[in-house]
Amino acid sequence: MLYQIKIFGIVQGVGFRPFIDRLAKEFKILGTVANKGSYVEIFAQGDEIENFCEAVKKNSPPRAEILNIEKNFIADSSNFTDFKIIESEHEDGDIFVSPDISICDKCAEELFDKNNRRYLHPFINCTDCGPRLTILKSMPYDRERTSMENFPMCDDCREEYFNKNSRRYDAQPVCCNECGPEVFILDGDEKNSDAIKKIRKIIFNGGIAAIKGIGGFHLACDANNFETVQRLRKLKNRPSKPFAVMTKKISFDCSILNSPQKPIVLIDKKFLKVAENVAPNNNKIGVMLPYTPLHLLIFDYPDEIKNFPNVLIMTSGNISGEPLAINDDDAKKLLKICDAVLTHNREILIRADDSVADIFENDIYMIRRSRGYAPLPIHCNNNQRKKILAIGGELKNTFCLSKNNLFYMSPYIGDLTNLKTINALKKSVERMIELFEIKPEIVVCDLHPRYHSAKIAEEFAEKLKIPLIKIQHHYAHILSCMAENNFFDEVIGVSFDGTGYGTDGTIWGGEFMIASPKNFKRVDSITPFIQAGGDKSSVEGWRNAVSMIYNIYKDFEVVKKISKELNFAEENKIDGQIFLLKNNINCVKSTSIGRLFDTVSAILGFCKESTFEGEAAMTLQFNAELNIGNYELIEELSTEKIFENILKRRLKGEDVKKIAFEFHAAIAEYVLKTCEKLRDETKISTVALSGGVFQNTLLLNLTIERLHKKNFKILRHKMIPPNDGGIALGQALAANYLWRFVAKNF
Ligand code: ZN
Ligand code: ZN
Ligand code: FE
Repeated sequence: MLYQIKIFGIVQGVGFRPFIDRLAKEFKILGTVANKGSYVEIFAQGDEIENFCEAVKKNSPPRAEILNIEKNFIADSSNFTDFKIIESEHEDGDIFVSPDISICDKCAEELFDKNNRRYLHPFINCTDCGPRLTILKSMPYDRERTSMENFPMCDDCREEYFNKNSRRYDAQPVCCNECGPEVFILDGDEKNSDAIKKIRKIIFNGGIAAIKGIGGFHLACDANNFETVQRLRKLKNRPSKPFAVMTKKISFDCSILNSPQKPIVLIDKKFLKVAENVAPNNNKIGVMLPYTPLHLLIFDYPDEIKNFPNVLIMTSGNISGEPLAINDDDAKKLLKICDAVLTHNREILIRADDSVADIFENDIYMIRRSRGYAPLPIHCNNNQRKKILAIGGELKNTFCLSKNNLFYMSPYIGDLTNLKTINALKKSVERMIELFEIKPEIVVCDLHPRYHSAKIAEEFAEKLKIPLIKIQHHYAHILSCMAENNFFDEVIGVSFDGTGYGTDGTIWGGEFMIASPKNFKRVDSITPFIQAGGDKSSVEGWRNAVSMIYNIYKDFEVVKKISKELNFAEENKIDGQIFLLKNNINCVKSTSIGRLFDTVSAILGFCKESTFEGEAAMTLQFNAELNIGNYELIEELSTEKIFENILKRRLKGEDVKKIAFEFHAAIAEYVLKTCEKLRDETKISTVALSGGVFQNTLLLNLTIERLHKKNFKILRHKMIPPNDGGIALGQALAANYLWRFVAKNF
């Protein structure tokens, strides 16, 4: 029995072949291992191939990142007598760029070792840790092609760099106090140690500081100082959206928090003491651990401050609405909203916001995939022939470049609501095209005619003289979920989302579709309702409540009475909303389930108006999670009936937390019933769950539980966000199939 095993991912220059060699001996495998440039190829004979492959996955070297293992049986009678590493020709291949990696334990130890020559060096790093993507100009990854090119290595660093036995062998950003970059106060006199001491003092005394990190600036302050947090909210124009925090240590044991990617992880608030205005009305708090040497030095430094805060707010250093600041010009603007800026002269070439992850089924559940993960590609076995640029969605934008079954998702770009972010997107696309040497042959974007992202896609199509394909938003969500799960047969797609442009010109959002990468058919949706009042109806959930209530009673007097009873808004606002409905002004048909969640949040009195995206739905979820009693199952077969049921019980004065929970369960039950109906009709029994509403882990859990009991195969997200941050992946997958139909026009 001979097997050919191909291992894709970051498997070059990370000690991967010696590792395979050791493992093969352990499992008594005979054969060879070779580096093929874009993957590692193993020929293996032995009885324990399965276990061997498992061990490869489980025990790979710290910096390696395995994307996929392909295993093929080969009818070949070769008989190996040993296992060896062979040199082989590099195949022209795919480019793997490592994401940035948080400081490792050994470097952290050296950082505080007085006898080490890198004592307190803010840029200490090694082969296992340090910046990668964010300092990279072009491939291959050599020092002269990084922003370390301005810092020639000193003799000692050079010695380590070339020494095979050193921890810093071949580590491109290696440097020390002698030869490395320097930190300093922007527009100030302090440098190095004085600069760090100054920032510590500012934070200690209740001030706000901007600090340059790996992928951009943070705004930092004491997370237990209520007044300072309040001041930051004012300055950042951010009334209630939760702030992420960084803590030195936490009593909550969690491998995701500790992982080399160091994402922000949403954890139960009870594990960390912070001022109540850090994450108001929230059961969870976004926490990360320090991931650069500079972070560690901010927390601990040999100066006179002894009780430096243990928890700091570490929020994106940007002016509201703009992209994260990455250079000193951007940072000058931050001076208006903080007391000092700590910067340094190692350039950030690619912006990388902190990644954000929730925990689901004891595992990571990605909300924002960026620093630490991007641009690691997703691997799909989908026979891809074309090079594709997928521009992504309008909010939480990320884009995707893809070729040869590899899908390189960009770091987070943000909401394309202002010119700066739009330009950041264009620039990032160009950088990644260069970096990955992928010259797109097709551009893909969303179907929405007024999206900036669509305009940008058109520009690229024109500039590169290549065809443009437009993909329906919720279909792209489902495809992103299929791509992530490497599943390409037909599925029942449940796309539960905010809003997207439907193929019929109405607003979609709560959709059931039969989908495959080739096409989709919308087969069901939640009950349509009227969204009146344009953008306002997207942030003020009570406005849609008004039309849904009208839908039940068909009487505007009753609608007004209930609206007043539930305290939706001032009377003139309620009258205004009724006026719009009555006269069919600014009214559109919508099946957005995201808006339905907002509406229920409004009628239960949790949140009538969102000050940030998702606020109403989040408060609804959190209140539902606080329900500890039993619940009754609302077995209605339409969202219209579920809404009516809930409204009536709310008017009776029942416990709102209980109703909130029952609403979640009712929606999950409704999904199950709809999927069962569709399975009967189509014989398809795989369900893909995607869309921003599935960020709601309570709903996700209740839905999966039910589907599972009825023997559905479930595809759900894990490493790719269910929200719009994931749709570029789905767009790229669709383009891989649809190009045949557009190519003839070119
Ligand atoms: Zn290290
Ligand atoms: Zn040096
Ligand atoms: Fe969406």
